[in-house]
Amino acid sequence: MAKIAFIGLGHMGGGMAPNLAKAGHEVRAFDLSEEALAHAVERGCKRAGSAAEACKDADAVVTMLPAGKHVAEVYRSQVFGAAPASAILIDCSTIDVATARAVEAEAEAKGYVMVDAPVSGGIAAAEGGTLTFMVGGSQDGFERAREFLEKMGKAVIHAGDPGAGQAAKICNNMLLGASMAATCETFVLAQKLGLDPKVFFDISSKASGQCWSMTSYCPVPGVGPETPADREYEGGFAAALMLKDLKLAMEAAQSAGAYTPMGGEAEELFQRFVDLGGGNKDFSALIKMIDDSWDS
Ligand code: NAD
Repeated sequence: MAKIAFIGLGHMGGGMAPNLAKAGHEVRAFDLSEEALAHAVERGCKRAGSAAEACKDADAVVTMLPAGKHVAEVYRSQVFGAAPASAILIDCSTIDVATARAVEAEAEAKGYVMVDAPVSGGIAAAEGGTLTFMVGGSQDGFERAREFLEKMGKAVIHAGDPGAGQAAKICNNMLLGASMAATCETFVLAQKLGLDPKVFFDISSKASGQCWSMTSYCPVPGVGPETPADREYEGGFAAALMLKDLKLAMEAAQSAGAYTPMGGEAEELFQRFVDLGGGNKDFSALIKMIDDSWDS
């Protein structure tokens, strides 16, 4: 049984931390929100009074925080120095590549082994222990982190050097955002040209336009397998989080000097959708904005 500090018990961390406790580990949990912390304690985690207290004598530290600034702040002010140098440090948050690399370099300079391990899969996968982890860091860091990540996920993949997990995550989600936007506008056009969406789905899902956004996550209700579109676009992957990931991708593209016009267009579309009040809806609800029957 290992002692694990788990910091950040929101929508994702609140599902992940209890899976480590269920696997027999001692999970010392901390969150600034009393409600989130109490929920984790009810589900088998131990209450810590601060992130630094959770890290004392820990074998592993796992963080699941909103953005880069929270990750940098928590590691610099709470984790470094409080956790023993023998602890493996695992950041599962989705953050910008530059901050991930900077914090990992600081960790290394202080004698820690740290990895970035962002996830694919939403709240249900966090609860069910079926996340996919994309890990950036040394081979040794990957092997040490894997033992813990396997208790929270169905796949743990070594993406490469520090920051490579974040790079894989934002590249994947840039493709997802652009392919969903293209799927939405394609179905709107097909319908305006008089095609039945179900018939068009049957054709295109077996033709060269096929993509995951269409066949597994169709934005049109009643078409293809059941998706958030069949539940008024509730649940699923919030448009605001897609926008966050597209912004991270655009920042990364700018610093790497990559030309990403489709990613940029997707970012603008999701920004408009969020500005219209769609941020809490599943990201496939973008079709409601593209279709001129959208009235909010
Ligand atoms: P969330 O806002 O629900 O949870 C974040 C938690 O961190 C909150 O409970 C907050 O109180 C806590 N927190 C913030 N600063 C803290 C600090 N200094 N010390 C301790 N706790 C602190 O966010 P979430 O939906 O759980 O997402 C977490 C990360 O996972 C994000 O980076 C997000 O992009 C990523 N992600 C989310 C999803 C999803 O579907 N929600 C899917 C994949 C990846």
